[in-house]
Amino acid sequence: MFKNFKMISNVVFGRGSFVQLDDILKKRRHHSKSWVLFVVDDVFQGKLLEKRIPFHAKDMLLWVNVNDEPKTSYVDTLTLKVHNFAKTLPAAIVGIGGGSTMDLAKALSLMLTNAGFSHEYQGWDLIKNPAVYHIAVPTLSGTGAEVSRTTVLTGPEKKLGINSDYTVFDQVLLDPELIRDVPPTQRFYTGMDCYIHCIESLQGTYINEFSRAYGEKALALCREVFLNGNKDTEENRAKADDKLMMASFFGGMSIAYSQVGACHALSYGLSYILGTHHGIGCCIAFDALEDIYPEGVKEFKEMMKIRKIELPRNVTKGLDKEKMDKMITVSMGLEPLWENCLGEDWKKIMTKTKMKSLFKKM
Ligand code: NAD
Ligand code: ZN
Repeated sequence: MFKNFKMISNVVFGRGSFVQLDDILKKRRHHSKSWVLFVVDDVFQGKLLEKRIPFHAKDMLLWVNVNDEPKTSYVDTLTLKVHNFAKTLPAAIVGIGGGSTMDLAKALSLMLTNAGFSHEYQGWDLIKNPAVYHIAVPTLSGTGAEVSRTTVLTGPEKKLGINSDYTVFDQVLLDPELIRDVPPTQRFYTGMDCYIHCIESLQGTYINEFSRAYGEKALALCREVFLNGNKDTEENRAKADDKLMMASFFGGMSIAYSQVGACHALSYGLSYILGTHHGIGCCIAFDALEDIYPEGVKEFKEMMKIRKIELPRNVTKGLDKEKMDKMITVSMGLEPLWENCLGEDWKKIMTKTKMKSLFKKM
């Protein structure tokens, strides 16, 4: 069976396009009782962006904290808060933030129309009812969460997304001005998530012309952003932000029709056991994968050098046997990722011993 890819219905791109959000929402405010739920990263509390949110009297502003990446328990708490706020469903949900906040907005849009707990829906196509209309406004670029059909959540038993066509945003608003003030290290880690999406997609066995078309362009954009020796001027940074925002979008499109690979499988293990965040976790794992992605890793190290990034080292040092085994089990469980990376016979190549040696290298 071929994938019947669910795409986003509407996309706005442009510097300053955030002002258009109110107009977009106007079309959703069908009657006087209509209200909008804004799900916003609390890093913007008291910042200029807060004042720019097109908030109307009946709306709800839900600040979310992403110091920890989204958990199912957090999604359930937030869902309850929204239910307590109003008896009716919001006319729209707007997620403003990075991958974590966008994922929380997606999860809320699903959990407001589907009964039970969010961990019950971790998996593929378990969602029964359509989501509330939802909009993504990324303020950090790289994850591709703005285009993907998943919301990645850590549950009581596993880190796994709620994957469904209903998860996909209805509208995306890409305003590169919003990523201007991301701290450079965070920008690098999340940007590298996109670079790694491209390498894993393009070098994978699932590659096809759909994914290649998006992946090659996204990779070229990542190189323009992270390999250039341009002076750090306001103008150059703005140009780079425009490119990075499109790289993230295209990188997400590329993996949507192929798959990620070894680096993501290993980073999920790191995240589950050590709580390592996605972008930095991917960088730590990728750095150890020169046998699998020799050219990609070489270029990645060059980018780290140019951007003066020092990765944390020895992150798995002192890990007891039980935790190491669990980390291996979590990573090994991501079978499609391994199959994409190493082919059908991947189990003969990526043995537990081999995986352990990779984790020890990190
Ligand atoms: P993030 O959303 O976790 O944010 C990282 C940090 O940057 C946070 O402290 C946040 O407050 C801050 N931040 C965000 N925007 C900022 C801005 N404009 N200025 C200053 N600080 C800002 O980071 P991320 O790398 O974008 O997302 C990682 C998350 O995305 C993980 O939870 C991961 O599981 C998820 N993810 C989802 C998908 C998907 O397809 N759904 C794909 C990859 C990753
Ligand atoms: Zn990723």
